[in-house]
Order: sequence, then C-alpha cells, then structure tokens
Amino acid sequence: MRNYRALSIKQPWLAAILSGWKPVENRTWDTSYRGPLLLHASARIDPDGFDVIRRMDYRPPAKPPVAAILGVAELVDVCDAVWGDRPGFCSCGPWAMFGQYHWRLATVRTFTNPVPAKGALGLWAPTGDVAAAVGRELANMTGRPCEGVAPDA
Ligand SMILES: [Zn+2]
Repeated sequence: MRNYRALSIKQPWLAAILSGWKPVENRTWDTSYRGPLLLHASARIDPDGFDVIRRMDYRPPAKPPVAAILGVAELVDVCDAVWGDRPGFCSCGPWAMFGQYHWRLATVRTFTNPVPAKGALGLWAPTGDVAAAVGRELANMTGRPCEGVAPDA
C-alpha cells in the first residue's frame, strides 16, 4: 500500500460523501496534501448533521457505521476562495461553507468491508493491521467510482 493519508469525518457527513452526494468536505484547516484520502468514520457522530443533510435532500442512513475506514476518495483540490467573500462566491457548490477550506473530493469509492480503526485528528496514516486491511480493500475494490468535483483548471 502506498502511504495513504486518512481523514476522520463524523457521521452522517461521511455517509453523504460516500454516496457521492457531498463532494466537498469543509475543514477549518488547509493542507498541501493531494492524492488518495482514506475516509474514516469517527467514533462520535454529529447528531445535528442528520437534519442538516435532510434539508439538502439527501437521506442519510439511520445508523451509519462508525469507528472504521469506509472508503477512499481522491483529494484533488482545496479551495479557500470564500475567505473575505460572500458565500457562494466559489464554484464548490451548495455544501461549501463560508470561512472554511473546501476539500474537493473525486472518485469516491466505498470499501466492501469496513476496516475498524480508532482515527485521529488531522491527516493520519494507518499502520500495522489497519494498514494491511486497508491494502486488501484497495486491492479488491469493485465499487463504481462516483463523479466528484473536478479541480479548477
Ligand atoms: Zn470553494
């Protein structure tokens, strides 16, 4: 397995990403990392997220899996275009939040078997048994890629 980076995301937000519905992850921090991003469901959920996501016309699963790496996406770009501007000023779509960095994801794919993992803050790299299990999922991935947001030309 290449040295993939992982990002812990609370449910139900990760479910919306994995469905291909939400191609943007909002973060308060920027990163220079680009490439494969393992999508880890945090142990703690965001209870308020369910209502917010329903208002965006996506119906999240009632009990999405947590504390596991569920899939992988390509981090193609990070947009900071809304700093100092009005919301909607950039081209990241309706999920982009004002004053946050918009991590633009493409080629989102879901693992056949979730890989249990604790997760961490920031970008982290799986090790040991977790890395081995992730490697097996990456090798056996059959899911059809979803179209995400393409990077700005
Ligand atoms: Zn943006």
